[in-house]
Amino acid sequence: MGKDPEHAKFFDWRMALSHAIRDRIVDRWVASTRRTYEQDGKRVYYLSMEFLIGRLLEDGIVNLGLVEEVGETLRTFGIDYRSVLEDEPDAALGNGGLGRLAACFLDSLSTIGCPAMGYGIRYENGLFKQSFVDGRQVESPETWLQEPHPWEFGRPEVRFTLGFRGEVTTENGRTVWKPSELLQAEAFDTPIVGWQGRWANTLRLWAGRAVDPFDLDRFNAGDFAAAAEHEALARTISRVLYPEDSNEAGKELRLKQEFFFSAASIRDILRRFEGQHEDLRALPKKVAIQLNDTHPAIAGPELLRILHDERGLSFEEALEITHGCMNYTNHTLLPEALERWDERLFGRLLPRHLQIIDRIDDAHYRANPTRLLSARSDGQVKMGELSFIVANKVNGVSALHTDLMKKTVFKDLHGLHPDRIVNETNGVTPRRWLHSCNPGLSSLITDSIGDGWIADLEQLERLEPFIGKDDWLHRFRAVKAENKVTLCDYIAERHGMRLNPDAMFDIQIKRIHEYKRQHLNILEAIAHWQEIKDTPGGDWVPRVKIFAGKAAQGYHFAKDIIHLINDVAKVVNADAETRDSLQVIFLPNYNVTLAEHLIPAADLSEQISTAGKEASGTGNMKFALNGALTIGTLDGANVEIRERVGEENFFLFGMLADEVMQRRMIHDHAQQAIAADPRLARALEAIRSGTFSPQDPGRYVHIADNLTWSDYFLVCSDFSAYWQAQREADHAYRDPDLWARKAALNVARSGWFSSDRTIRGYMCDIWGAESLLAP
Ligand SMILES: *Cc1c(COP(=O)(O)O)cnc(C)c1O
Repeated sequence: MGKDPEHAKFFDWRMALSHAIRDRIVDRWVASTRRTYEQDGKRVYYLSMEFLIGRLLEDGIVNLGLVEEVGETLRTFGIDYRSVLEDEPDAALGNGGLGRLAACFLDSLSTIGCPAMGYGIRYENGLFKQSFVDGRQVESPETWLQEPHPWEFGRPEVRFTLGFRGEVTTENGRTVWKPSELLQAEAFDTPIVGWQGRWANTLRLWAGRAVDPFDLDRFNAGDFAAAAEHEALARTISRVLYPEDSNEAGKELRLKQEFFFSAASIRDILRRFEGQHEDLRALPKKVAIQLNDTHPAIAGPELLRILHDERGLSFEEALEITHGCMNYTNHTLLPEALERWDERLFGRLLPRHLQIIDRIDDAHYRANPTRLLSARSDGQVKMGELSFIVANKVNGVSALHTDLMKKTVFKDLHGLHPDRIVNETNGVTPRRWLHSCNPGLSSLITDSIGDGWIADLEQLERLEPFIGKDDWLHRFRAVKAENKVTLCDYIAERHGMRLNPDAMFDIQIKRIHEYKRQHLNILEAIAHWQEIKDTPGGDWVPRVKIFAGKAAQGYHFAKDIIHLINDVAKVVNADAETRDSLQVIFLPNYNVTLAEHLIPAADLSEQISTAGKEASGTGNMKFALNGALTIGTLDGANVEIRERVGEENFFLFGMLADEVMQRRMIHDHAQQAIAADPRLARALEAIRSGTFSPQDPGRYVHIADNLTWSDYFLVCSDFSAYWQAQREADHAYRDPDLWARKAALNVARSGWFSSDRTIRGYMCDIWGAESLLAP
């Protein structure tokens, strides 16, 4: 770093250490790349708008087996290892589950040794930073790239020029698109090293650059701002994740981002293929492209366009090749989250692609004249339908979700292509989500069954015989207790609040959304608080309720839920009558690092979405793997978690997906539920009357009204069952050994939720790809 150690800051130590680790990763990376070229196996390309990778330094150290060595080396300089790790900012390149899934997949692909590449956008500012002002969410730009980022390698030589708008003409019988707006995509590569450093793949992120960065004529004419305008405009494309799309300019930018990274990736894939192969018809043998949701769906028409318009293949042949390469993962059944573009906007930006989509749609219609859905109708381009039609395989992300996909959104298309939909239940990487984040539990497991579980998580089954032994269970309890104390210290230091480490730690951390029902959780907390106040000095099981999560900037109702939870926390935490029995805290700026701090300390995992709405969830898996019991609905992967950990080790409540649909038919379902449960009525009344916002009593009337009169997500209808399940959890928690056994069984039986298992499923069922590592 060019500094005397005397003057070095944590930043300098971190950078020096990162470079030392990076050097060692690069050796493996180069070797893996060389092997991939030599073996010429099938390559996997994972296209995703998000990669929520979090910090990378500890990953590198752990995967290379250098933890001891690094700790010792730093000690000789008098530097604390943890403090150096804590200095690294999170790479905030994602919103939530979908982006974190992509990051876990990269880890597993490298651990397994599958030749693969992740493609995405190098957002300069990523997702916003969240803070609270008077309990309200305030957003500020994330600035993770202001400091040098030691893990990326700029590749200024890898650049593609991309276009927008312009016109489509015919020249010598061929269709030619002449875009009128040009910009460049420049590559930045991050090596992703797998467990024990046996393999490393690449995450390639694209940054927007101007074709003519600087207008010298305008500069010389004195118009300095205009001179730099091209550059600024080109950069906006890779500036932030999910810009507000409530106005026309935002929508356009979003579509541009999608095309920008998809088109650059397709060009890169073709360039690599054509460097080694002559015949484009062999593409599906060598290339599998996975679309992580519909955001990169335009990659299909773009590949087809290049094959047909630029390489001269017939349209039919180009379509067949494209179909052979593309696969699509669906992540949501929420109608408002299925991507649709106004065809005028689409046609303005990508005129040739609109024509190609029509031809794809036509060809599909001619082959399937009975179909009901199409990729373009009602003035809209429908990215879900388009992806389904183009893809070779379409997958859901949990058993329930895949089943619902077949029965709802893709019913018609599934009937025509019954072999296309497959299920690949999500998973999480055990390296980050157990071994690194929970060193106490990791050591206990390794002491008991050896360390083979880290790359073969189903070995955790072998813990079961230990769970019956008192001394082992004692150690298991001690690990959780210690993790809770560590979290208490962390929260006290950063947020100035002392939590009771003996209380049950009840945690709900995820994006804030009505379907995820943080408001159901806080409503129950209010009712519980009221009950404690009725009988102060009662024999209550002490609870700490922890929330974290960001609300989309334009999602006002979700932001009001955050405000409400913060207001409830203020009142409840200040109440001397209840303080020993109930504490509530909302931690700001949820991200991967915060999740790593919270999950090992959890007793109870809140997975309470309205049944049929959560595609899978992956937070639920992280908690179970770290020995928390789930309180949850039969939704997403909760279903499979409960099947595996055992129904007696899971607090189930609430309506099933089909009951939800039935219940909505009853026009006054919420009022009926309120009339039937006085606790619910009283908690709602407290919200409505301003108990938690005395200076502004009307603040939450609209939330109470929403729950009373429409309640689309059935908070009221599920309240009584949820309340009951919470009391069952209290009851179980009173017996510490019983609780610990249940928690330990959750750990022992969660091995199936490794993303290694998920990736093996994709390799076998979808990609036809193989590991290049010797077994
Ligand atoms: C795991 C994870 C998620 C996904 O959580 P769900 O509860 O499945 O929605 C979101 N954000 C971060 C930072 C995560 O680590």
